[in-house]
Amino acid sequence: MTAVVDRSVVAEVEHHDLAMCMGMREDTQALNALGVHEVGNLLGIKLPTKGMARCPLPGHDDSTPSFEVRNQGRHWRCYGCDKSGGAIDLVMAFQGMSFLEAKTWLAAKIGMASSRWSSAPSRRKQQHRISTTPPKSIDTTETPPDHTLYGELIARSPLLKSGADYLLGRSLSPEILARFAIGQMPTISVIKELVLRFGFERVEACGLLTKRSTPDSYWPIFPQDALLFPYFEASKIVYIQARTIITHEKGSRWRNLNNRRRRLYNADVLTDPSIRRVAICEGAIDVLSATQLGCEAFGLVGISARLSDTEIMSLRGKQVDILLDWDSPGEERASTLRKELIRFGVAATRKSAPRDGSKDVNDFLQQGNTKI
Ligand SMILES: [Zn+2]
Repeated sequence: MTAVVDRSVVAEVEHHDLAMCMGMREDTQALNALGVHEVGNLLGIKLPTKGMARCPLPGHDDSTPSFEVRNQGRHWRCYGCDKSGGAIDLVMAFQGMSFLEAKTWLAAKIGMASSRWSSAPSRRKQQHRISTTPPKSIDTTETPPDHTLYGELIARSPLLKSGADYLLGRSLSPEILARFAIGQMPTISVIKELVLRFGFERVEACGLLTKRSTPDSYWPIFPQDALLFPYFEASKIVYIQARTIITHEKGSRWRNLNNRRRRLYNADVLTDPSIRRVAICEGAIDVLSATQLGCEAFGLVGISARLSDTEIMSLRGKQVDILLDWDSPGEERASTLRKELIRFGVAATRKSAPRDGSKDVNDFLQQGNTKI
């Protein structure tokens, strides 16, 4: 993760941005180039390598084998329910998804930049339907995350002594801080350097400037000395959240980007097939704490944050522990979250409150525990 600051990765990121301009048709082609067997593995179904097998599609109770994979594993067909197609069609048929939903799901599974579909109409509609607290004034036509610019900010903002002292004081280890590439705003002039290098519009589009900023007079959204938590997706930075460490400052300690869609913290654990157990935490510091306690985790930003259908589906087949705060909002949210997950066949365990009286995962770590 920390490698994102080195130059070869920045070059790769720029190449990636170029690829993003190529458009949706190329995405469809790239996804359909996946083998049907590989997609079957992602869906958790075993498909025949030769001959016929029973149809795995829901709704087809296949007593005689009528499903086959053809065309060097690029095409499938069921003679019973008369369905056929390629990789994306298989996801649509098995998951009951629309074309766009299937593409988004598949792209996330293989680590392709799914962000480019984040404003797809189906997903947007869904967020409005299920969200209890829709984010205020989030631009629904948001540009894709600027990995290069976010990477530059993190590269120029190493963790300082004050930030390291604060986090070590909360029992987090230097290894964990390095793994999550935690940074710290050196001075606000770092934003001026970014404006000079990338231009005002690009820095503004990244959400790094306050609402009233103009090219002649702009102000960074994150204060000096604030800790910076980069959000990675497919190992690229898609979002940054800041936390002030100065106690006398007014308002929320957590600062979010201006006019950018909020995301899950450490979302890559959702799509990593090698991770069998994953915890859902409240916020970044608890994610770091859970990871240090031996459990890979991702974080909801704000307790009312929702998981998309795609995100929930990627939890299928994993052991899921709910490690939200052990207080009444945390318990309440844990209960609604379990119901949301179960709709998709994901059974999650709510960890009961530790006997030592810890109110959250970081408390639990600070009590001297080494495992959760
Ligand atoms: Zn069938």
